[in-house]
Amino acid sequence: MHVILIKYAEIHLKGLNRPFFERQLVKQIQRALAPLPARTLREQGRMYVYDVPEGDVAQAVDKLTTVFGIHAICPALVVEKDWPAIRGAAIQALRETEGDGPQTFKVFARRADKTFPMTSEQICRELGHDLLEACPWLRVDVKKPAISVQVEVRLDRAFLYTKEVAGRGGMPVGCNGKAMLLISGGIDSPVAGYLMAKRGVSLAAVHFFSFPYTSERARDKVVELTRLVAKYAGEIELFLVPFTEIQRAIYEKCPPTETTVLMRRLMMKIAERVANRCGAQVLVTGEAIGQVASQTIESLTVTNDACTLPVLRPLICFDKEEIVDLAKSIGTFQTSILPFEDCCTVFVPQHPVTKPKLERLRSSEALVDFEPMIEEALLGTIIEKISQTVCG
Ligand code: ATP
Ligand code: MG
Repeated sequence: MHVILIKYAEIHLKGLNRPFFERQLVKQIQRALAPLPARTLREQGRMYVYDVPEGDVAQAVDKLTTVFGIHAICPALVVEKDWPAIRGAAIQALRETEGDGPQTFKVFARRADKTFPMTSEQICRELGHDLLEACPWLRVDVKKPAISVQVEVRLDRAFLYTKEVAGRGGMPVGCNGKAMLLISGGIDSPVAGYLMAKRGVSLAAVHFFSFPYTSERARDKVVELTRLVAKYAGEIELFLVPFTEIQRAIYEKCPPTETTVLMRRLMMKIAERVANRCGAQVLVTGEAIGQVASQTIESLTVTNDACTLPVLRPLICFDKEEIVDLAKSIGTFQTSILPFEDCCTVFVPQHPVTKPKLERLRSSEALVDFEPMIEEALLGTIIEKISQTVCG
């Protein structure tokens, strides 16, 4: 019988909270593997995924590399806890490597069941000897083996595996609260969402669109980006907020150099209300210090003043190049660079202030009664539940 053995990342460190972290990890594993049949069991600091059809194991391992909280993924054989069975299974597995030509190996053994008649050391020595005899194309290399033959003797059975795929690390989504991601169609915000999810934070997202200045296709692009983040973060409730009236009012009634910062303040105000409605405890943006005029320390301070929820900016000290590399590695980059307009780019001022003064910005904002417009925008908000499986 085969199984996928999962080694956790940091969560074994969490003491009394451990069962909670483990439950979140089970949920995330099941989510990532759906619709494949899979049954995840927890046992002594490990997780085992049973019932994945043999032909789907490679695909399942691939899906598990999107789950945060996993240190390593090992497709394994379940073997009876008995020396001839372990030995037989190991020889059979290693015989399959004959076609790959001469190779090196090393046996690693662990024994949770101390009543098992052989020590770990004995298992290593005996199995190494027997494998050499049965597979003459193999050689032992204790320093840098090509094949690591791992034997784990547990309480009621043993496991054998030779392949260990690196997991994504981080913590299971769902174990560290919920954030509202402000998602644009750009490169940065999907990466910011990904990094929050990596620390176990579940996500909702809000996007502001300015139809007809921004097109239907620009909106589809944001939905697609959200779906790409949902591959790692699980289901994301996406709030699409009509922003045209507010942008028009800022553009027509407020000082032209301040439009960007004012727009960002209004986005924060609305995002905060949406967050409060769906239980998100913080706002998240893709901003980085100095990237553009609205991302100087002064501008960020003025933006923060518009809301009371904390604003987290996981990319704050990232260079653009580092963000681009991450976007490529998680698969959002190609969608982010599709050439559709964003509401920020449509109304961008020629010479934006780079060091806005809080008091001045507050009084510019007071030139317009935004409250009814905010309410109108919230009423017109469209909500979509985005998950990888629903959208294909
Ligand atoms: P890029 O910088 O690659 O164009 P970006 O997503 O960082 O992409 P910016 O214009 O730099 O876009 O905006 C800074 C941040 O403000 C974004 O990371 C995002 O969190 C938020 N933001 C910008 N435009 C929108 C929008 N239309 N809807 C929701 N959030 C937005
Ligand atoms: Mg940016």
